[in-house]
Amino acid sequence: MMLAQALGTTFLGCLVWIPIAVWVIAMVHWTVQGELDIVVLIAGFFAAIGLGYATMNPPDPAWSPVLFGLVVASIALFPIARVAFARRALEAMEVERAEQAYATLRVSQNDLGARMKLARVLFAKGFVGEAIKIAEPALQGLPRRLVADEIREFEAWRYQARDPALFRGTACLNCRTMNAPGEIYCSNCGAPFLLDALRGPFSRGGLGRKLVAAWVLAILLFIGIPAASRLTGPGQAPALIGLQVVVGALFSWFALREKGRAS
Ligand SMILES: [Zn+2]
Repeated sequence: MMLAQALGTTFLGCLVWIPIAVWVIAMVHWTVQGELDIVVLIAGFFAAIGLGYATMNPPDPAWSPVLFGLVVASIALFPIARVAFARRALEAMEVERAEQAYATLRVSQNDLGARMKLARVLFAKGFVGEAIKIAEPALQGLPRRLVADEIREFEAWRYQARDPALFRGTACLNCRTMNAPGEIYCSNCGAPFLLDALRGPFSRGGLGRKLVAAWVLAILLFIGIPAASRLTGPGQAPALIGLQVVVGALFSWFALREKGRAS
C-alpha cells in the first residue's frame, strides 16, 4: 500500500508538469496580449511551480491526487476564459470603431461616413434610437441614388424601432444628465457620453488578472495554509500562515484595484 502510494505520487508528480506547462504558456500569452501584468505573471508562475512541487512532495501521499486534480481543474477553465477573451476583443474593436467616428465628427460634424459608422456600432449595441437620430441628419438632403445603401440600412433600423422606449435617451456617465437621441456630446458637460456608454462603466481588461489572482488565492487557501498548519516547529505554523495571509491580501488588492481608464 505504501509502495503503491509512493509510486502514485511519483507518477502524478511527473505528469502534473504537463498541465502546469500549459498554464504557464497561457499566462505568458495573456501577458503579451496585455491582459496580465508582469507582477501577476510572476505570482502565477510561482503558484504553478509551487503546486507542481507540492504534487511531487506532498505533506501526505494522499494529497497527490487532490493536488493533481486541482491543476487539471484549472485547465478545464480554459475554454471559458478563451470565450470571455474573444468576446472582449470583439467589444474592444467595436469601441475602437466608435472612437474613430468620434475623432472624425470632432472635425466634421456632419460627416456621413463617421455618422453611419457610429450609428452602426450603436445599433449593434442596442442604442437603436441613438443610431437612428445620429444617422438621420447626415442622410437628409443627399440625393437618394448616392446613398441608397445607407438609406436602406436606415429604413431597416427605423422599421425595428417602433417602440418609443428606444428613444428615451442615454444618461451621461460623467454628470448623469439624460441626453436625447441625436446628441453626440453631452448637452451639459460636453463629454462623449455615447463612447462612455459603449465602453461600459467597468474598466476594460483585467479579466486575466482576476482569473490568475483567484487561482493563486485558491492555492494559498486550500494548499498553502493547510500545509503550513501541519508544521510542528515552534511558531512555524502561525508564522507561515500569517505570511500567506499577508501575501494573499496584498495580491488581491493588486489584482482587483481598478486601473485608471484611458480616455
Ligand atoms: Zn455630461
